[in-house]
Amino acid sequence: PTLPGTLARTTRKYPEREAVVYPRKDVRLTYEELDRRVTRCANALRDLGVEPGDRVSLLMYNSAEFVVAMFGLLRAGAVFNPINYRLAPGEVGYILDDSDSSVLLFEEATRETVEAGRDEFGTVDRYLYVDDDVESTPDYARGFHETVSTADDGPVEIEVAPTDQYAIMYTSGTTGRPKGVVHSHQDATYHNMLYFGRLDLDYTDVGVSAMPLYHNAELNCGLCPRLNLGATTVVLHQFDPERVLDVVDAEQATHLFVASRTWSELLSAAEDAADFDGSSLQLGIYGAAPMPPTLLEQCIETFCEDYATAYGMTEMGPCATFIRPDEVHDQLGSVGRAAPNHELRIVSPTETESPDDPVAPTDVVQRGDVGEIILQGPPMLTEYWNRPGLTADAIRDGWFFTGDAGYVNEDGYLFLVDRIDDMIISGGENIYPTEIENVLYDHEAVEAVAVVGEENGEWGERVVAYVVGSGADADSLDEFCRSRDELADFKRPREYYFVDELPRNPSGKIQKFELQPSDVDGSS
Ligand code: ATP
Ligand code: MG
Repeated sequence: PTLPGTLARTTRKYPEREAVVYPRKDVRLTYEELDRRVTRCANALRDLGVEPGDRVSLLMYNSAEFVVAMFGLLRAGAVFNPINYRLAPGEVGYILDDSDSSVLLFEEATRETVEAGRDEFGTVDRYLYVDDDVESTPDYARGFHETVSTADDGPVEIEVAPTDQYAIMYTSGTTGRPKGVVHSHQDATYHNMLYFGRLDLDYTDVGVSAMPLYHNAELNCGLCPRLNLGATTVVLHQFDPERVLDVVDAEQATHLFVASRTWSELLSAAEDAADFDGSSLQLGIYGAAPMPPTLLEQCIETFCEDYATAYGMTEMGPCATFIRPDEVHDQLGSVGRAAPNHELRIVSPTETESPDDPVAPTDVVQRGDVGEIILQGPPMLTEYWNRPGLTADAIRDGWFFTGDAGYVNEDGYLFLVDRIDDMIISGGENIYPTEIENVLYDHEAVEAVAVVGEENGEWGERVVAYVVGSGADADSLDEFCRSRDELADFKRPREYYFVDELPRNPSGKIQKFELQPSDVDGSS
């Protein structure tokens, strides 16, 4: 199977069903219409000289055009490279260069980035502007709508094989510079089947793509699986809690994926929206980051009873493990079990990896003990693009070393603990910051917190906390930690730094490697 092949098959089955609804431009595309536009887009790209294997990059928010462009370039045999639209011009330039992209699609909302960086986008020699239906195209670009609507809609004479490269997707850059992850078409079709295969969803369902499509979570747990099923996707340009609630009601959405903590924004919006009904919603999906249990309970009260989550990453796809809605309550906080045809192991955690003595996939820890999560499964990345050293480090004996720490409980459910790199070693103890952060999050004055290890000669590292929250002070936080018996004394932060905000990557994940003690006022 290939992605464009899958779309063609769905189209033959459900030609009249709505595939994509894009309220921002009043667009409603049936499968037949979507498929025709995809074919035109593929032919248009062929006319522009795009050859199979060429990299085509998208610097785009979510839109109907995103879907057409993505499947169009794939049908032309090109390689899909979606770029995070919040990146700075230099970071976009790095990705274009690294992926050797020759074509870039962009829009009004990303035009500033393109114009600021264009001198440095050395590999790109064709620009396509996707908002040419509402305003004029910059002189260095071609209009996407104009180019696509005048192209032929006859068959695209390109054979795409399942093992052909489908995408280079860059990781979020939480732990360093984004890495280009290479996947084949069969990986992608595998990703798409895993998630919805486990949920009771089908062609009658309606979902909202409210999270960014450049990221593998929304793409492979939302849009693509729905196109696989013949279901409808309502595309929002970007996340906006009020708009999400509006379209849930207006389009009678049955399910919705929103990143874990982002659900709290929906909760506040729902409190303010007197007329929000939400009765069509049957399933909420969270993920990509830890979900605080209290937040989940509030969501259950406000939106719907059933929630599911998965754990994954750009390298393995978003659904390497999965938990059923009916298991969420009994195994609160778990991300479930390995997906079908996948296997997971927990091996000895490595703080600093010694190249001479790497952890082997057989260094399995005791059930219940924390270690590094390693995974095996068919949709594993082919390689990190241009990074053979990283590839050799991450894939050992057919296992993908995730860099995430976790444990499997007695019932066989996986719990994530932290990133291995974030683990603090203090006085010979391994300390996982998330545990401490979860306690501090329960304090009413704490809006955000990051616990990290700070170099300290005597103890190796000492535990310190960076806190956002007016009204919080070190004494009361320390008192609060002491009052909680789940926090051993050696885990209590020895210092609190109060900051206005925490460094986050464009997806909102906290970048701990950016935390520098010298930038802030300390108080203990
Ligand atoms: P980089 O690899 O560049 O540092 P990243 O790992 O954040 O960035 P992604 O591939 O977007 O890039 O994210 C995958 C990571 O997100 C996982 O390795 C894990 O740490 C985290 N994650 C994924 N799913 C969940 C989940 N359900 N709960 C908690 N964390 C999750
Ligand atoms: Mg990663």
